[in-house]
Amino acid sequence: MKKKIGIMGGTFDPIHIGHLILGEKAYDQFGLDKVRFMPAGNPPHKRNRKGRATDEQRVEMVRMAISSNPHFELCLAEMNEDGYSYTYRTLERFREENPEEEYYFIIGADSLFDFDIWREPGRICKACTIVVATRNQTSNERLDLTMERMRQKFDGTFLKLDTPNLDISSKHIRQWIEENRTIQYYVPDCVREYIEKYQMYKDCD
Ligand code: ATP
Ligand code: MG
Repeated sequence: MKKKIGIMGGTFDPIHIGHLILGEKAYDQFGLDKVRFMPAGNPPHKRNRKGRATDEQRVEMVRMAISSNPHFELCLAEMNEDGYSYTYRTLERFREENPEEEYYFIIGADSLFDFDIWREPGRICKACTIVVATRNQTSNERLDLTMERMRQKFDGTFLKLDTPNLDISSKHIRQWIEENRTIQYYVPDCVREYIEKYQMYKDCD
């Protein structure tokens, strides 16, 4: 029996409860052994943007947010490069290095709609099962149709995560902070305190 590993990739600028709920729901629904949270490296032109978290801060917030969950892990595979990492390469490397593992890559509907323009979607599909959560009130019908289209186009396995629409994004959180509005309960307390301590996202690009 191979180990089933969920991978939750993202910019996590900052991590929020939507990301955490997706990871936990995927763990439960697909009987995963672990879920790895894998922050994407920022390419040089996106680093040090005004008011934004540094790469180290994004990683630290992920680390704190997942620390209380024994089946969540931090994965830095995409942080050590020049900031340009491609999912297909990362997954192919994982498979080469860990033949005893199989991968469930977790995405939201907005990422599914972009999937065509990711690098090498066919190779991503060979390397993992793709788990899709609804987002932005996407109807089940539209989600099903798009998953079917991607299945046919890339010969992949696309499974639907059984989650309600979670109306939250990092963009909203950054915006609320700029407007001095509360973000409580949208991010774990430890993340909120960290953001406050370092005065992040106060005046961001
Ligand atoms: P931003 O607003 O900066 O784009 P985000 O909230 O979309 O941030 P990302 O780090 O870009 O967060 O997302 C990582 C992955 O998590 C993506 O596949 C995205 O679709 C998914 N995701 C994030 N938030 C949600 C949500 N509320 N519901 C479903 N999927 C989500
Ligand atoms: Mg996003």
